Amino acid sequence: MTRLNSWIASANTAETPFPLNNLPYGVFSIAGGPRKLGVAIGDQIVDVAQMEDALPVDPAVLSDPRGWNGLMERGAEIWVAFRSALTEALFEGAVERPDALVPLAEAKMHMPFAVSEYTDFYAGRHHATNVGTMFRGPDNALPPNWLHIPIGYNGRASSVVVSGTDIRRPWGQLKGPNDEAPKWAPSQRFDIELEIGAIVGQSSDGPISVDQADANIFGYVLLNDWSARDIQAWEYQPLGPFQAKATATSISPWIVTKAALEPFRCATPVREKDLLPHLRDTGPMLYDIPLSVTLNGETICETNYNEMYYSSAQQLAHHTTSGCPMRVGDLLGAGTISGPKKANRGSLLELSWGGKEPLELANGDTRSFIEDGDTLTLHGAAQGDGYKIGFGDCTGTVLPALDTPFKG
Ligand code: MN
Repeated sequence: MTRLNSWIASANTAETPFPLNNLPYGVFSIAGGPRKLGVAIGDQIVDVAQMEDALPVDPAVLSDPRGWNGLMERGAEIWVAFRSALTEALFEGAVERPDALVPLAEAKMHMPFAVSEYTDFYAGRHHATNVGTMFRGPDNALPPNWLHIPIGYNGRASSVVVSGTDIRRPWGQLKGPNDEAPKWAPSQRFDIELEIGAIVGQSSDGPISVDQADANIFGYVLLNDWSARDIQAWEYQPLGPFQAKATATSISPWIVTKAALEPFRCATPVREKDLLPHLRDTGPMLYDIPLSVTLNGETICETNYNEMYYSSAQQLAHHTTSGCPMRVGDLLGAGTISGPKKANRGSLLELSWGGKEPLELANGDTRSFIEDGDTLTLHGAAQGDGYKIGFGDCTGTVLPALDTPFKG
C-alpha cells in the first residue's frame, strides 16, 4: 500500500499523521461552538455534517450527540461504505469542498464516542514479567493463568477522558510502613500506562469467536491508564485494582479505524503454551504500530503494539466466554505495552524499577514517578510506504492534589 493523495495538499506528505489512507474519527468544536463530528485529513478537519450529500448514512449519524456511536451501531457494511464514500469525496481530482473544512489547529477536541463500559487487560508479557518480578520475584513473575487467558479487570467508563484533560493527583489509602496503620494521603507513586484501546462497534450477547470479535472491533485509540501504584499495592489483593485505576484514563482524540490499520497486521508472539482452541490465533491478530512516551517533551519510552501477547480480538472473545453481553462503545484497554529492553518499558514503575533506579532526564532532573506539573504524552503512528497512520497525541498534565479531596 502506498499513500493515497487528496485534493487537500497538507494530507499528501510522508510526515502528516492524517493522510487520506487514515481518515480517523473525532469530535471537535470551534471557538466554544457546538460539538461536531469530524474526520482528520492533513492539517484540516472535515465537518462531516457539511458533506451529508456525499455520505451514505442518515443525517442523525452525522450529528449524533454521543459522537461516533451512531455510525458504529449501523454495522460493519455501513462502516465500509462510509469510509469508501469519504475516500472518494476527498480523493485528488474530486470536486473540492473547502466549505466543509476547518483548520485542525483551531479545533478543541472532545470525547470521540460515548464509552459504554471500560475493561482493562494485562496482556503484555514484558510488562507482566517486569511487574511480577518486582512484586513476587523472578520465579513467580507470571501467574500460572497468564499464558492461558488474557487477565483483565472491569474499569469505569465514567473515568475515561479525552487527551488534553488535566489529571488531578488522587488521594488514597496507602499501606503504612512495616505493620503500622495505613495512612490517608495523596499518591506519591502516580504513574502512566502506555496502552492501545479497542472500541467495540457491534454488540454481542453470549460467547463469540475470535474472528467474530475481530469483526466487531470498530477501531483503536491510544490509551493512558493513569495508575496510583501506592494505592494499588495496598488494595489489589485479592480482587485486583480498584481506586488505583479510577482517577482517570485518557484516550487520544481520534479513533483510527480497523480498516486504516489493515496493512499493518502482524502475528502475535510464538506461544510458549498452546492456547485453548477458542482463544487461538486465526491469522495475524496484532498491528505494527511504533509507540512512544514523552515526559515534558523528552522521550522516555519507545515500544510497539506488536509486543502484545494477546490481541484485542482475543481479549474481546475471552471477555464474552461467560456470556457477558458487550455493547457498542465498550472500550478495552490492551494492557501496558512494554518491550524486551529497558528503553521499551511503558510505565514509570518499570522504567524506574519501582523507584530504585530513577530515570535521569536531559535537564539533570530525575524521576521515579510523576511530579506535579509533569505533562505525559503518548504518541503512536503506523509507518507505511511514504505515509503514516497516526492517532494524534494522548496527553495529560498532572495537577497537585487538592488540600482536601472532599467536596462538602
Ligand atoms: Mn492498564
